[in-house]
Amino acid sequence: MTRTVDAIHRLDLTDPLTDHVGRYSTGGAIHLNGNSLSPACDGLDERLRETTARWASDQVRGWFDAGWLDLPRTVGDKIATLLGTGPGRVVVPGESTSTVLFNALVGALRLSGTDTRPELLVEAEAFPTDRYIAASAARLLDRTVVAVPAAGLDAAVAARGPRVAAVLAAPVDFRTGRRRDLAATAAACRRAGAVSVFDLSHAAGVLPVELDDVGADLAVGCGYKYLGGGPGAPAFLFAAADHHADLELPLTGWHGHARPFAMVPEFEPASGIDRGRTGTPQLLSLVALDHALDPLVEVGIDALYTRGVALAATFLEELGRRRPDLAAAVVGPRDPARRGAHLALQLPDAGRTERELATRGVLTDSRPPDLLRVAFAPLQVTHGQVARAAAVLDEVQEPIA
Ligand SMILES: *Cc1c(COP(=O)(O)O)cnc(C)c1O
Repeated sequence: MTRTVDAIHRLDLTDPLTDHVGRYSTGGAIHLNGNSLSPACDGLDERLRETTARWASDQVRGWFDAGWLDLPRTVGDKIATLLGTGPGRVVVPGESTSTVLFNALVGALRLSGTDTRPELLVEAEAFPTDRYIAASAARLLDRTVVAVPAAGLDAAVAARGPRVAAVLAAPVDFRTGRRRDLAATAAACRRAGAVSVFDLSHAAGVLPVELDDVGADLAVGCGYKYLGGGPGAPAFLFAAADHHADLELPLTGWHGHARPFAMVPEFEPASGIDRGRTGTPQLLSLVALDHALDPLVEVGIDALYTRGVALAATFLEELGRRRPDLAAAVVGPRDPARRGAHLALQLPDAGRTERELATRGVLTDSRPPDLLRVAFAPLQVTHGQVARAAAVLDEVQEPIA
């Protein structure tokens, strides 16, 4: 059964979340880009202006009187609601994902205790910065990185058992969109006595990751992808409550101190997740991220997820109706339960297709060597737009063998 134009229109008319789409300024483009930058949500200019006005009026007092110093925690608590965990477990230290990941991985290796556990397991297909940072963390602590195909990670953890200190894994493969069963990986880590570290960059704000139920140890994620925090938005750090007391992070900045303003010479970590803070927070970026989180928190992760799945289904149906060859070029699982919020199409010249789409106002992204990614941020596109994107793809892409 295919959906007619009317049926697609009806999907948009009957879905209460459609109204959110108009709140994101895309300058008329159809936003299906899932990596570097989300469109801004209405009201951001006002939020930033309020902040700079407060800066002008309160000046240095703003850090204390305007709640600026608390933003790493208050923004973290908002993100927590999207990750299936409670307040006080997530912090936004004001650093890139790479930096926060470094902090988390060294912390994980230290948590794992004695160096009789020599290995840090990573997915062979991991995002490059994750591989680079893992290599560096392992080198610092005299461990060895073992890269394993993602599909065999849980089995490798089980087989290597007491050799494994920590495991770094992602819930969604950044290329193919293949989804990991986080609960299974976390359970494999627990059985092996290894510390789990999850990079949620391609899941936060779009997939329910249920960190508490899963029993994740540590996690990090990016602020500028589905969370929509804007260019270079800071990343977040999660630590399960039972690790707060013994988590020794390597970046021991004064904002992670138990009493930052006591200015004492020795580092004493703050008691909870605050030990994940480093230095003076990036106020304007935190305000932008805070603003971007409001609609997501209001809608809730389950409804966001459901809508993302429905948008992808509309795209796939429309593509299948127009171009079976392109629908067949989708790599990764067909079953929405087994993939993240993006689809990847294997095309002979994905970079060229991406550029052709962009000139026609359809923003996707490509990943070498041959993948076109189409990502469905739940509040940023309509069913009508994703159907239109499939039509434009049909126009620009010659038949593939
Ligand atoms: C996007 C992404 C990052 C980004 O790292 P930055 O240091 O914030 O640029 C890291 N890891 C993964 C898995 C990502 O997808």
